[in-house]
Amino acid sequence: MRYLAVLISLFATTAFAAEPKPAPAAARTTLTWYGHAAFKIVTPGGKTLLVDPWIKNPANKTGEADLAALDKADLVLVTHGHFDHVGDAVEIGKKTGAKLVATFDLGNALVGAGYPKEQFGFDSTGNAGGDIELLGGDVRVAFIPAVHSSDANGHAAGSAGGFLIRIKGGPSIYHTGDTDLFGDMALVAEHGKVDVMLACIGDRFTMGPKRAAEAVKLVKPASVVPMHFATFPVLTGTVEAFAAALKQSGAKAELKALKVGETVAL
Ligand SMILES: [Zn+2]
Repeated sequence: MRYLAVLISLFATTAFAAEPKPAPAAARTTLTWYGHAAFKIVTPGGKTLLVDPWIKNPANKTGEADLAALDKADLVLVTHGHFDHVGDAVEIGKKTGAKLVATFDLGNALVGAGYPKEQFGFDSTGNAGGDIELLGGDVRVAFIPAVHSSDANGHAAGSAGGFLIRIKGGPSIYHTGDTDLFGDMALVAEHGKVDVMLACIGDRFTMGPKRAAEAVKLVKPASVVPMHFATFPVLTGTVEAFAAALKQSGAKAELKALKVGETVAL
């Protein structure tokens, strides 16, 4: 009996010793929607990116507190000069020291509006066709065209655009900015496969649900997050209409409708 007990204990020790240690869970990229076109992306490397940071938009009931809590940001990306996309960029730039990623024209307009000059330069600017490396290679950003306008509070601010944001060890995220459907969206994936598409669906100033569903068909992302709807009554597109249009269009992407303030791991 005693011999058997020793054997069992030996076997157990060996078995446990042979058990590989579970690898530490890899950090995931997280995506937070503040409502409208405003998103926060936190990379596995701990870098914080804000896109079109209109944090205090009417759909975000906790806008003041959310903005106050934003004390760290590495990049602020702005797709075009309209107030609902520039949003709180200047305030965030001032308090975090974040570099501004925007076209040369829009960046200069925002520096004119108070964005710290030393946080916008050749290292963080570009234009359609450009594909730049940022944060020591943690992030790549391609400047994607959009069919829209870009006046910045009365100042010329170049052309409107979108961004394809590719994160090292994480997903690639296409923020359409404000745009209509255009055939060259099929070329976005030439930069590399799109994992998540953040698509405007509100109609009136941008694609509505049906055209946005066609855009998803062209871009072929694994999932799509609807944005730029319901912030004002005139932005009439709904998640339900978008879901129906996606189904009808035969687009394969998974619909990930976020609630304002929700954070998801990608
Ligand atoms: Zn807009």
